[in-house]
Amino acid sequence: MKQLDAQSEALIAPIDQDAMLADAQAWSAINTGTANLDGLAKQAGVLADAFAALPGDVELVDPTPVSAIAADGSEFEKPHGQHLIARIRPDAERRLLFTGHMDTVFPKDHSFQEQTWLDDDTLNGPGLADMKGGIAVFLHALKAFERSDVADQIGYDVLLNSDEETGSLASAPLIEQMAQGKYAALTYEPSALPDGTLAHARGGSGNYSLTITGKSAHAGRNPQDGRNAIVAAAAIVLGLKELQTEDCPINPAKIEGGAANNVVPDHAVLRFNIRPKSPDAAAAFEAALASLIGETQQAHEVTIHQHGGISRPPKPVDRKAQRLFDLVRDCGASLGQTIGWQSTGGVCDGNNIADCGVPVVDTMGVRGGAIHSPDEFMIVSSLRERAALSALVIHRLASGEEL
Ligand SMILES: [Zn+2]
Repeated sequence: MKQLDAQSEALIAPIDQDAMLADAQAWSAINTGTANLDGLAKQAGVLADAFAALPGDVELVDPTPVSAIAADGSEFEKPHGQHLIARIRPDAERRLLFTGHMDTVFPKDHSFQEQTWLDDDTLNGPGLADMKGGIAVFLHALKAFERSDVADQIGYDVLLNSDEETGSLASAPLIEQMAQGKYAALTYEPSALPDGTLAHARGGSGNYSLTITGKSAHAGRNPQDGRNAIVAAAAIVLGLKELQTEDCPINPAKIEGGAANNVVPDHAVLRFNIRPKSPDAAAAFEAALASLIGETQQAHEVTIHQHGGISRPPKPVDRKAQRLFDLVRDCGASLGQTIGWQSTGGVCDGNNIADCGVPVVDTMGVRGGAIHSPDEFMIVSSLRERAALSALVIHRLASGEEL
């Protein structure tokens, strides 16, 4: 391993592993399932105090209203928690964006709430890897960076949203707004593999609910007068499977609705997910879906209402984004860390940021694994390791590194 230069040594020296662990543990102890608004409010308050250590204003922002479709086809509003933002030196010419999420996939009545040491360096607990440990990584990286001589060379915004785990529908406009004009972005999802491998290109994701309204009739007396919504929903499911390509997996997930056995059903809700791998595949699917809906309405004499769509655009890695990956790899090498990357089918806020044309590496958080399960773990020593990596990357970007 190359000797780290004195400047980099001084930069990372203040990063305090024990303080980072204390933060991650305290934050993991607060349940922040995406629907737990009390827990999220408590977490936002604690994080606002922590991020007040940075030289900028911290603000809590109301979520964008989000509606969903109930099983009976009615639209209802889904409540969400507030998001936290901080702006540091907003007038700087070169500005960066740092993002993370404070919610987890574990509701407040889930059995997984406690932390358990698996060995000296492995801590099991809700949200430790995904991504409260990641929030500690960038908070402490930024605190160290603020002590450096080039801190005033850049400005940056911080965004901690409350709804990433359900697709960031209540924060997507805020993400887009905060990505505007940024030179680069770093997002603190855990590494793609426990060895620190980063997620590279990502596919996209879309969730749809189609409400199908037919006409009810007696199943024996006048079935010819009925328009069967379940049959139309089934026709769409088969049509969707015909549309599936290698570049766009489609998963019909649920059909709700129907009626008694002696009634032609006039109501169904069909839900499905798509995973387009490229912007072209996403556009082609949306056009084909519009045709499929039109044809089915005609053939089955039903009306179909579409709710939802592509909420995570595919994230290809363009030239500037690749240079950001290269910069992270180079900074890792000078710290004795081997950083690789691989493509993934998973999605995150990095998809939304990349869609704004901003280069992003979105797995800068801790090393860990088994996320979204009660086996979720964080490799504890990766807290300081990954904060040092981030501090170096930020320092290089503040020192004029071009992407
Ligand atoms: Zn996450």
